[in-house]
Amino acid sequence: MTNQNVVVSDGKSSMKVAVAMAMSNTSLFSQAVPKPPTWSAGRFVRRKAVKKLESQGGPHKINAWVDSMRASSPAKSPPSSPEHDSWMVTHPSAMDMFDEIARSSKGKKIVMFLDYDGTLSPIVQDPDRAFMSEDMRAAVKAVARYFPTAIVSGRGKDKVHDFVKLKELYYAGSHGMDIEGPSNGNDDKSIVCQPASEFLPIINQVYNKLIQKTKFIEGAKVESNKFCLSVHFRCVDEKRWPELAEQVKQVLNDYPKLKMNYGRKVLEIKPTIKWDKGKALEFLLEALGFANSKDVLPIYIGDDRTDEDAFKVLRKRKQGFGILVSKLPKETSAAYTLQDPSEVKRFLQRLVEWKQVSQCGYYRS
Ligand SMILES: [Mg+2]
Repeated sequence: MTNQNVVVSDGKSSMKVAVAMAMSNTSLFSQAVPKPPTWSAGRFVRRKAVKKLESQGGPHKINAWVDSMRASSPAKSPPSSPEHDSWMVTHPSAMDMFDEIARSSKGKKIVMFLDYDGTLSPIVQDPDRAFMSEDMRAAVKAVARYFPTAIVSGRGKDKVHDFVKLKELYYAGSHGMDIEGPSNGNDDKSIVCQPASEFLPIINQVYNKLIQKTKFIEGAKVESNKFCLSVHFRCVDEKRWPELAEQVKQVLNDYPKLKMNYGRKVLEIKPTIKWDKGKALEFLLEALGFANSKDVLPIYIGDDRTDEDAFKVLRKRKQGFGILVSKLPKETSAAYTLQDPSEVKRFLQRLVEWKQVSQCGYYRS
């Protein structure tokens, strides 16, 4: 990979910035982040085994794929189960820990990172209709007035921008492989980063092949996210999952430069470059001038496995807070949790309220 697709513009001139700089680890920070808990429940052991299989080939692969599809799309369990209660002890609610988060930000600049699907919008049957509410849009807009704010999504950048409709944000689409923003005209630091642009031709080839291969499987939906692809199976009868897995596998066999991961009712196909949402977080912090700063408090809120890369970066840096959106116990590197998008909205609103009040000097935590 080269750095030729990474550009930072200061509004007057443009300069190329090496992706390697964003990938470098300048861990000079001291803020403690709670250590991830050791969790040995059966489903997590299974998840680890499944993850190992993702990188393996062999004739058993279709069964392994279908097992992984099931493991990544767990059935809901009662939120009041003993398992859930003990998980909440190790991963408390970010609402309950709000005062701690506010105290930690003293003397620091909060930078907000937000996933989209399942975080700002509810998960819906049709991925083209994952709209966010006007209240949520207002909450994100208010947050962006006080803190640099980035949307980090597996979706294509333009599509997620169309959903969010806020020009003042940074957008990191394609799992962070397509970064741009802000585009509100008066910004003095617009940035562009496309570390996977060389993969665009084969991504388009694979997209067209997958459309052909899956068109007879009712409910299957192939989505182009520009530098990566999603094969949604939320609406596919589980009896046809092996057939879908076989079709996708056949296509990917011809493209060793692409890899596949499992999301919630979705197969994610990406280039085999070392770039993910965690790298996007590091790149954006560096582009914002916080690469070697102790005076920054990144907060990353997300709900999916791909967000774990960002949570891990925050732990490695010993800086900021990862917040997982989930009603179910999950293996995670996030420090705190929120239940669902409506609770994310309340957290964002509370952050704005706290900032407004603290600027007036009245806030007491
Ligand atoms: Mg998500």
